[in-house]
Amino acid sequence: MTLSPADLPAVRGALLAWFDRAGRPLPWRVGPEGGRDPYRVWVSEVLLQQTQVARGQVYFERFMTAFPTVQALADAPIEAVLKAWEGCGYYARARNLHRAAGVIVREGMPTTYEGWRALPGVGPYTAAAVASLACGEARAVNDGNVRRVLARLHGERQPTQTWVQARADELFDPARPGAFNEAVMDLGATTCTPKTPKCGECPLQAWCTAFASGYPAAFPAPKERAAVREIHAVALLLGDAREAVLERREGSLLGGLMGLPNEVVREGETPEKALARLAERLGASVTGELGTVTHTMTHRHLNLTVYGGLGGPPRSRVSDAALSRLDHKALGLWERRQDSLFAGA
Ligand code: SF4
Repeated sequence: MTLSPADLPAVRGALLAWFDRAGRPLPWRVGPEGGRDPYRVWVSEVLLQQTQVARGQVYFERFMTAFPTVQALADAPIEAVLKAWEGCGYYARARNLHRAAGVIVREGMPTTYEGWRALPGVGPYTAAAVASLACGEARAVNDGNVRRVLARLHGERQPTQTWVQARADELFDPARPGAFNEAVMDLGATTCTPKTPKCGECPLQAWCTAFASGYPAAFPAPKERAAVREIHAVALLLGDAREAVLERREGSLLGGLMGLPNEVVREGETPEKALARLAERLGASVTGELGTVTHTMTHRHLNLTVYGGLGGPPRSRVSDAALSRLDHKALGLWERRQDSLFAGA
């Protein structure tokens, strides 16, 4: 079965009727359809690029409590913004949010796709989402949910970006741009899910090629994944879980955050050698290994072996710093060690 252009109005109508009935009451959907609060939509779209909606809601509320307005975000020191972003990953996005908030306060809230696109860190997807959801502009969004729903509807195993955008544009409802985009996002997130689509509850089932095939989850074909690079590093915990020596990370790997001092184990080098280099740099001595923690990013898997030590630079209060999840795990090793010492006492 192939979806014909003549079917598009009926498909569009079924999707929007379903959304009117079953759309999710998410905390960033404040304001009327197509006229949502642009600040909340923008922050949510940046947050949800790397986070599941359930967890994203918790982070979103935390961020909004800290910075309820774009003015509050622009006025805040970057340290406070990174602290509120803790756990959300990709800290460059938090820095861009902060920079863009400064632009908005000076120049006003954008009201068009082009205006949003000109802000630091705002790509085509986010600009289309905010322009349609908050400004009522006729822009069809193109993200993973949209790609999956449209690939299944049309039975396309290898959808390209251009193909998805063309299919989204032809199904799009310019009379209800915000609702249409929210509807596809919701259908992809709640019903046409990646592994086990709930076709029995889907408003598009009557036209869906993937459903008719009997193997809806086989569409689209899985993307080939780039190889994950293993990185080994050693860290020194000088102090304890409340007060410790912290350093600002440089480079793309957790760059900009504070964390335990560490050294990457170089090619052909032993972890002991990297540890000796780290201890010498800090003027510290190593007392023993606390354990290893791991963290997986898109193309990298980081193994961090944490050691306790003495001496070194002055300690800082851990609760004041924006730390990566990896560093929280590393500090958890120290707490577990204390618990086991007390249990054995
Ligand atoms: S019928 Fe199934 S595969 Fe097709 S769009 Fe709906 S949920 Fe997705």
